Amino acid sequence: MPTSPGLRIGRILGIPIYVHASWMIIFVLITMSLAMQFTQEHPQWTTVQHWAVGVATSLLFFASVLFHELSHSMVARAYKIRVISITLFVFGGVARIGREPAKAIQEFNIAIAGPLASLFLAFAFYSLTQFFPYAQMTGALAVWLWQTNAALALFNLLPGFPLDGGRIFRAVVWGVTKDFARATKVAGTSGKIVAYGMIVFGAWYAMRGQWTSGLWLAFIGWFLLNAAQESVAQVAIREALSGLHAADVMSHEVPTVPRNMSLEEYGQEVARTGRRCHLVTTEDRLVGMINVHALNSVARDEWGNMSVQGVMIPREKVLWARPEEPLLGLLERLVSADVNQMPVVTDTEDDGAHIIGMITRDSILRVMQARSEVGSLTPTR
Ligand SMILES: [Zn+2]
Repeated sequence: MPTSPGLRIGRILGIPIYVHASWMIIFVLITMSLAMQFTQEHPQWTTVQHWAVGVATSLLFFASVLFHELSHSMVARAYKIRVISITLFVFGGVARIGREPAKAIQEFNIAIAGPLASLFLAFAFYSLTQFFPYAQMTGALAVWLWQTNAALALFNLLPGFPLDGGRIFRAVVWGVTKDFARATKVAGTSGKIVAYGMIVFGAWYAMRGQWTSGLWLAFIGWFLLNAAQESVAQVAIREALSGLHAADVMSHEVPTVPRNMSLEEYGQEVARTGRRCHLVTTEDRLVGMINVHALNSVARDEWGNMSVQGVMIPREKVLWARPEEPLLGLLERLVSADVNQMPVVTDTEDDGAHIIGMITRDSILRVMQARSEVGSLTPTR
């Protein structure tokens, strides 16, 4: 499951943008190496100019990667796929989307938008170099940025999952074979081949004396290898969950608290039972949901004066599941909404929802693990 994506730096077009810790190290390294490069190649500039152009180039590189990810996001949105967040990593970014595309052509278009955006930027910066000579600050900046954006586009087009090229490759195999699971396996395998190739080539390069480039290449290869394995595992999840519904894995035990309970008492209840989320009820009717997160939004010395009802998530805003909902879609909804549990409810005639169970990410993970232990028992569909 996704962990904390990093430091949040803002929101663009409604999408939260995060920066991974590793990106800041890279940002400093790129700025330093650019300042050194400019010091060597442009001795006529002042020290302040070397650093100013270094920082400006780094920032524009950062903006370029963001532009690449936003392009993926805009195409995803055009297909009504929610974009949860964009995170900038060591050598690029990741746009997290709420669900997998439903059709091969959608995946193809979402994937190719990124490299096309980078190529567009490469072309734009290349055009700048036609007006500003390399000896000038704008020219030096534009040369580095057009080359780097072109390299970014080409690197991302390598046909290995999870790079954009791997997604394009998967979309093509998926479109031809109509078999999503098989397409992912093929793209995952080609991703591993690309990754091993980069590791071997990087090691060979390093041994020939090109230490920095060689090790860097090998490191990226190693990162890709892990990512390829992870994305194949995601397909295994799909397969493990197929045929199962919310009612199959929900727990019938529903921890509830009355709505007039004080937050002080609720804190004790959490500490005593270890449960972090409760439904708020009156006479078996769901009126809301409360969890430790909501509890902690209130200052501790106010707990005695406030009731659960004051801070609970009201019923209209609680996400809930139906017993017949397929588990895979439900897991995607849990991840997409960034919540750990949902109540399972059925409607009764006398209005009002009747709670029949609770479904958590943990219970879904447990059934996946159990299924992997008993082997591939394909459920009857
Ligand atoms: Zn991309």
